[in-house]
Amino acid sequence: MLNVFFTVDVEIWCGGWTNIDTKFPQAFQQYVYGRTQRGEYGLRYKLQQLRDHGLHGVFFVEPLFATRFGTEPLAEIIGLIQEYGQEVQLHMHPEWVDESTYPLLPTRLRKRPFMSDFSLEDQTTLIAEGIKLIADAGGGNVNAFRAGSFGFNLNTLVALATNNITFDSSYNASYFGLGSGLASGKILLEPFFSNGVTEFPMTVFDDGTRSLRHTQLGAISSREMEGLMWKSLKQKRKTFVILSHNFELMNRRRDQADDVVINRFKTLCYFLDKNRDVFRTAGFKDMNPELVTNQPEPLTSPFWKTGLRMIEQLSRRRYE
Ligand SMILES: [Zn+2]
Repeated sequence: MLNVFFTVDVEIWCGGWTNIDTKFPQAFQQYVYGRTQRGEYGLRYKLQQLRDHGLHGVFFVEPLFATRFGTEPLAEIIGLIQEYGQEVQLHMHPEWVDESTYPLLPTRLRKRPFMSDFSLEDQTTLIAEGIKLIADAGGGNVNAFRAGSFGFNLNTLVALATNNITFDSSYNASYFGLGSGLASGKILLEPFFSNGVTEFPMTVFDDGTRSLRHTQLGAISSREMEGLMWKSLKQKRKTFVILSHNFELMNRRRDQADDVVINRFKTLCYFLDKNRDVFRTAGFKDMNPELVTNQPEPLTSPFWKTGLRMIEQLSRRRYE
C-alpha cells in the first residue's frame, strides 16, 4: 500500500500589487470558483470530483491575504473545503506581509516571497498568525504546513514545532530543498524527522533531461503520473506527494478551462479510485508516519514519456 497525498495549495493572487483592493473581489471569484462560460472549474469542482470518487485531499490554505481583506473570504474557502469533508492545512505566502492592514512583524520589511527570507523569530510569529487566521475562520487546528513556492529552511521547521505543527511538506528537491539546510544537501524523498517536525517531501523524479521535476498536475502527463505511482509501489516506497492548486484547471488568465489539465485530474481521480486497494489517499490529521532510515534514489521516468508530455504541454497553448 502506498500513501498518496493529493495536495492542493489554495491561494489568491490579484495580478500584481497595485490597486489590489479594487481587484480583489473579482480575483477571489476567479481563483476560488473558476467560473467560465462552460461552468465552474475552481475549488468546488475539485472538491466535487474527489467526493465523486471517494478520495481524500489535503488543502493547504494560504491565510495571510485575510490580513488585508478580512476573515470572511477566508472563511468562505474553509467552509467550502469542510462542506466536502476534506482536510484544511496551512500554506503561507509571505508576499502578503507588507500588504496587511495591521503590522504583522515588529519591523516593516520590503516584500519577501519566501519564508526562508525571514528570521526564526519572524517565521514563528507569521506561522502563529496563520494558525490564528485559519482558526478564526472556522478551520480548527492545523497540524501540517507548506511554505509558499517551497521557500523554506531549517528555521521554518523550528518555527513550526514551536507552534505545535508536527508535519511539513515544503521540501522539494527540484526547488530549494537542497539549500534548505535540511539533511545537509542529501536529497530527501521519503518522510524524515527533523527539529520536532516530520517532513513529507514533494515527490520528484528524473525525466531524462538531467533535472528533477515534481509531480504536479499541471506539469506532468497522466502517463508519467501513473507510471511513477506504479514504480513507487513496486519499490515499496512509503509516500507519493502530488501538487495541485485551486486554479490549476484554468488557463493563465483564469477565464477559461484548460481541458488538458482537467482530463489529467479526472484520469487521476479515476485511477486512484480504481486502484484503491494499493493506493490510499492520505491526510495528515490521522497520520502516524512511517519514517525511513535510508533515503531512496529519485524515481525515473523514461524520456519518451517526457517527449510526449512536452507535446501535450504545447497543445495547452490553445487555452491561453
Ligand atoms: Zn502557494
